[in-house]
Amino acid sequence: MLRTRGYRYELRVNNKERTFLTKCAGISRFAWNWGLAARKQRYQTQTGSAKYTDAMKQHKELNRLKQTNFPWMYEVSKCIPQEALRDLDRAYQNFFSNLHQKKRKQTTRYLGLPKFKKKGKSKDSFRLTGVIRIFPGVRRVQLPRLGKLRLKEKPNLPTSARILSATVSRTADRWYVALTVKEEQPDPEPNNGPLVALDKGFSVFAVLSSGIPIPKPKFLLRQARKQRRLSKAHTRKQEGSNNKRKSALRLARFYRRITNQRHNFLHQTSTYLAKNHSMIITEDLHVKGLMQNKKLSKYWADLSHGTFQRLLTYKAPFYGSTVIEIDRWFPSSKLCSNCLYYRRDLTLADRVFHCPLYGLALDRDQNAAFNIANYYAIYQDLLFSVAESSAETLNACGEAVRPAFQQARVAESGRTAPKTVWTNCL
Ligand SMILES: [Zn+2]
Repeated sequence: MLRTRGYRYELRVNNKERTFLTKCAGISRFAWNWGLAARKQRYQTQTGSAKYTDAMKQHKELNRLKQTNFPWMYEVSKCIPQEALRDLDRAYQNFFSNLHQKKRKQTTRYLGLPKFKKKGKSKDSFRLTGVIRIFPGVRRVQLPRLGKLRLKEKPNLPTSARILSATVSRTADRWYVALTVKEEQPDPEPNNGPLVALDKGFSVFAVLSSGIPIPKPKFLLRQARKQRRLSKAHTRKQEGSNNKRKSALRLARFYRRITNQRHNFLHQTSTYLAKNHSMIITEDLHVKGLMQNKKLSKYWADLSHGTFQRLLTYKAPFYGSTVIEIDRWFPSSKLCSNCLYYRRDLTLADRVFHCPLYGLALDRDQNAAFNIANYYAIYQDLLFSVAESSAETLNACGEAVRPAFQQARVAESGRTAPKTVWTNCL
């Protein structure tokens, strides 16, 4: 299996290199802004197909202007403006395809036009292509026009990996290089682990159907007072002063630390789940909708369920595991996992699920995790047959008989069902 993967390392830069990297990022930003302004102008003044342009044409145009208007652009690699214009082109393509999809009611997502990048506000980053080398066992990376830069760790790229590009970026006062590589991976062994269902929670991060809760980490909220202190101090500094610059850096470093902690947790948790389970069943959480609740949004944001799902989905095939996302309308919290009694009156405040029929009393999230596991155990044949051919669930009028199951997505098809099917407290 040939796959594309990213490897990111921190650079150990001196002051001279730091200045040069900042200049490269500045030229990348300039090229983006120049390209965007040129496109906007073209759109207003031209007619017909001359209203539009592409990355290649813009690059040629910029190269002509470089000699007379922007000679300082020759100080950096020619890839930098070229890649920035390519990014801009992609941003436009995404905008137009989103427009097209919205017209046909295929999506409810909204994508705006690309925006201008402001120095100090936008992320400092640029991409390089061409001769990029790493040296086995040596903390170095060789980049076009930048030469050999020191890394803070030895690169762990497989020797067979082919480097496609390098993206250099800054977070607070640290610089990183991310290498995009194509690498050959042997197909994974079938995973013999058990099946697990996950109820993504609010009071805890998630509850597994094996009964284990994953506690809520609260990375940002734990340090809410520090965040408040730092941002207050920052707003009180005089605009444009050295102190303002320093407080901005303190704040940026604070956020970088939180992000690192959160990513560490998300990566470790998702790798553990993917490695040890043949099948992972999750709910398709409507994160965007949850974020609209003004009072709760910061708590949901700190949990980053969306990122977690993304990591889990891409990692599972590496370990021979499958991720199944079940329909978001499945009432996992409101059903009794014992007798399937539906409690319409359950509110967010009820932390324990009480079943009026047989007197089951179970932690709310645990009950939901059992339900998600059951959803699969009961309907697994349906899930798989729908994944292979959706025609089976259509009735004579072409309407879906069981719309709920149709929405279940199977991340990797062609897998046989696991031997162990989860049984609950029955
Ligand atoms: Zn019951």
